[in-house]
Amino acid sequence: MRKAVFPGSFDPFTNGHFDIVSRALPLFDEIVVAIGHNSKKKYLFDLESRKKSIQGLFENNPKISVQVYEGLTVDYCLSINAPYILRGLRNSTDFEYERNIGQMNKALQDEIETVFFLTSPALSAISSTIVRDIYKNGGNINQFTPLDYKIE
Ligand code: ADP
Repeated sequence: MRKAVFPGSFDPFTNGHFDIVSRALPLFDEIVVAIGHNSKKKYLFDLESRKKSIQGLFENNPKISVQVYEGLTVDYCLSINAPYILRGLRNSTDFEYERNIGQMNKALQDEIETVFFLTSPALSAISSTIVRDIYKNGGNINQFTPLDYKIE
């Protein structure tokens, strides 16, 4: 039983995130999209709506579930018996950041492996941060996310 955790803020969940989950699916028996929650951090989309909307997206796929966690990702992985962490790499900035996190996670829990996916070229410009900015400024974000957001 190969179980993987795809951790992130998903504020909001984008086509880039969707692509990573879809491409990881043939490699794993179960994928948990895990929304990391930090009570000190401000999010644009509230936790419940992020969770519900991602759940809706994958409701026909029993291999994918959506959970919320707090604390260290590796601790969460251990608690649900998931030995793999999925992350996406868009560019060299992601690489430098993800390498450090991946190596630190490995130092914390040697038995947990991080599996990296190179972004699909057409999706490499998509980031939740920019999508949030577009949304906040009244732009239409629907081409960047598989979810249906109304323009505020
Ligand atoms: P975090 O706050 O943990 O970085 P995000 O929700 O921003 O959470 O991202 C979760 C993961 O998805 C990260 O590994 C990030 O690199 C990856 N990701 C984000 N956008 C894309 C994209 N367009 N293509 C591929 N991977 C992506």
